[in-house]
This record gives sequence, structure tokens and C-alpha cells, in this order.
Amino acid sequence: MAEKKIPYKIYLNENEIPSKWYNLRADMKNKPAPLLNPATLKPMTAEELSPVFCEELVAQELNNTDAYIDIPQEIQDFYKMYRPSPLIRAYFLEKALDTPAKIYYKFEGNNTSGSHKLNSAIAQAYYAKKQGLKGVTTETGAGQWGTALSMACSYFDLDCKVFMVKVSYEQKPFRREVMRTYGASVTPSPSLTTEVGKKILAEHPGTTGSLGCAISEAVEVAVTSEGYRYVLGSVLNQVLLHQSVIGLEAKAALDKYGVKPDIIIGCAGGGSNLGGLIAPFMGEKLRGEADYRIIAVEPASCPSFTRGKFAYDFCDTGMVCPLAKMYTLGSGFIPSANHAGGLRYHGMSSTLSQLYHDGYMEATSVEQTSVFEAAEKFARVEGILPAPESSHAIRAAIDEALKCKETGEEKTILFGLTGTGYFDMVAYEKYNDGEMTDYIPTDEDLEKGFAGLPNIPEE
Ligand SMILES: *Cc1c(COP(=O)(O)O)cnc(C)c1O
Repeated sequence: MAEKKIPYKIYLNENEIPSKWYNLRADMKNKPAPLLNPATLKPMTAEELSPVFCEELVAQELNNTDAYIDIPQEIQDFYKMYRPSPLIRAYFLEKALDTPAKIYYKFEGNNTSGSHKLNSAIAQAYYAKKQGLKGVTTETGAGQWGTALSMACSYFDLDCKVFMVKVSYEQKPFRREVMRTYGASVTPSPSLTTEVGKKILAEHPGTTGSLGCAISEAVEVAVTSEGYRYVLGSVLNQVLLHQSVIGLEAKAALDKYGVKPDIIIGCAGGGSNLGGLIAPFMGEKLRGEADYRIIAVEPASCPSFTRGKFAYDFCDTGMVCPLAKMYTLGSGFIPSANHAGGLRYHGMSSTLSQLYHDGYMEATSVEQTSVFEAAEKFARVEGILPAPESSHAIRAAIDEALKCKETGEEKTILFGLTGTGYFDMVAYEKYNDGEMTDYIPTDEDLEKGFAGLPNIPEE
């Protein structure tokens, strides 16, 4: 059969948007390790999780068996406002690189929040509303998650309290204003409005905050306020589940043209976009139906997969959250100022951690200046101004395509372009002025983080 000419953009039609999420865990032989109660070191039960999270989301978090979960009609309707997202054949980038590789990217930046995070925000807000809650609390680092959640909450008329890492609050005033425009209240973290915030400030006066601190504050407010629950934009199993729409759409679009990727690449902060993009492909790999090379790309300044330890750790700095088994740098690790704010988390999704541990995927780390070189190249030839986070995936995709140029192999590469970078112009400015630096933690820096890992006896 002659190969069909692949269009620049492959769109699905509205009826081809998935009506079910795919739950990768159902096909994993080694399931991700359960969340543990830090007091008893026993797996968290639904009852223990429900003061913190919405009931339906707790059920999804603990569901390791159902491969498909229906997407409620209201969520499907909301998805129609900005989905399906385009799958783009990067013809211009291929030409610029003079590579025989075929490059595709799934673009998730086509909504006001500017990233894939809306896919899970709308689901989490929906379940909170359905439970009759007044509102939700959360943290945001770079601001994409807070923005997505404030959009989702305004759609369902829920109150939204966002703790924003102080350094971002000050550096990204426009993100903050987008959130406020959608009705959210935004507090710089650490703050004096919570007990844990006061404690962190007393111990580290003048700290500019971290995601781990902001999580502790948001959780405290959720569990002490009637009618509120906490929601998280990455790392958790439920978030990967919601993000499976990315991979399901990408696979459906490629299948239309009989295209099978050889290599699938995504940036990894907490692992949600990567987990979502690879979900149906990894499912085939786990079931032995197909094989793919899957690569997680992280910043060299926050290398959870490539230099972290696979161990139980706290998800937050204040140690109020359950323990998760994951690749981690230690909850006390505060990464150096890196411009990819969304990739600065100390840990990694338990699901992806298990898959990585079992050899189903690879990981690589890249330095900031080479990431911005890739971002600039991509912006100039493909037109889209990428988020710094997404540009980690671009960097790795370009590197793989250049390897194909060396060997003459016509590999097919699929990568996730998670968002746009319009709020990251301070970072681009640094790059354009030649003032960007690379920071790689030394082994001693990392040892400090590992020293704070809780001592959990292996079963
Ligand atoms: C948050 C974010 C990421 C990283 O988060 P994951 O959970 O690892 O997907 C990547 N890209 C963008 C644009 C983000 O906003």
C-alpha cells in the first residue's frame, strides 16, 4: 500500500475525542507502590485519603485494575472547547535539521492556561463540584497548574485558593493576574496564613519557597476548612489517568495514517504529561503487543530519574502528605533557580518510577542553555513559542533526529509539546542576553537531600 501523504496537522473530529481514560496501571505486572500513611507506615485507605481528596478522585487514585474509566459527559463537553489538540508533523524542523527522521509532536498549549494541565484540572474540579464541595486548594510553581485550575473552577463555580511559590509570584505577576481574572485567590508561599508556612518561615527566613512548601500549605488549608479538598496537578495516579487523553488522541491520529512511532519523548516534572502521552503505547508494550523506546527528559538541575533514589519519600516539605515510593531527590532538596519551573519537583510519579525501575523506559537529563537553544530553533522554524518545560522534550527529539542523520535511519519520533512560553519571557531574555547559566548539583548537594529520606523498612 502506498504511503499516504501525511498532512501538517492531523486533527481528529469531535466524535473521535476519547470517551474513556486509559488506566495504565491495569496492565502493569508490578503495580506502583501504594501511598503510605506516615504515622502507621500502612497503605493509605480510601477513608484516610478522603479528608484530603475528593471521593471519586480517591477511588481513581487507588484503582489499579480497571483499564478504562468513563469520562463524564460534562468533562467531555468541556474538552470539546480546546480538544482534540493537533498532532503536528514537524516537516519544517525535519528540513532544518536535514534529518531522515520523521518528527511528530502533540501540541497541548492551545488553551488559555497554555498547557496540558487543563486536562486534569477540569476533571478534578468536576468531581469536587459533584461532591457538593465549596472549593479546592492547591499549589502552583510556575503558575500553569494554578491557571488551569482557576479556569476549571470558574467553569464549575467553585472557590479556588492557590498557594504560589513566592519566587514565581514575584517574577510572574501576569500569571497571577490570569488566575485572579478567573476568580482564584492567590497567596505567595510560604505565607503567614498557615501553621506550616509560619514554621517554614521561622526555619528559613527569607526563603523564596518551593513546590514542596506550597503543597504543605494548601493541604493544611484544605483539611482545616469545611467543604474544601486539596487537588494536585501532577505526580498522582489520577492525574496521569486524566492526561491519558493526550496519548489516546495521539495514537488515534497516527493510526489513521498507519504511522507507528519508534521513539516517544516527553519532559518529566512530576510525570503527568509523559505518563499521559505514553499511556496507550506503554499499554501495548506491557501487553507485549508492540515495542517503543520511551524517553523521559528532565533538567540536569533537578535530576529525579537520572540521579535520584527509588525510595519512599514525602511529597511535600512540611511532611504532612502521605509517603510515595518514587525516584526522588529528597523532599528537602530545593533545586537551584532553573527557568523550567514546572520541572522543579523533587519527586516523580510512582507509576512512571516503577516503569523506569522495571526497564520499560529510559531517562536523560539536559542542561538549560541547550534547552533554550532547542527552543529557539523550534520557535523559528515551527512557529510555536514553546514553554521551557516542553523544550526539554524538543532538545531530546532534536538530538535523536540528529543521530538519525548520522546513521541514515528513518526513525519516527513522537514528542509532547506541553505548552507555550509567553509567561517565560524573563527566561528567554536571559538566554537572549547570553546570561543564562547551567547548574548541575554536585553529589554532595544531592547527599543532603538523600539524608532527609525517611527510613522505611523494606517488606
Ligand atoms: C507542569 C508542566 C510540565 C511538567 O509537569 P508534568 O506533570 O511532568 O507533565 C511540563 N510542561 C508544562 C508546560 C507544564 O506546565
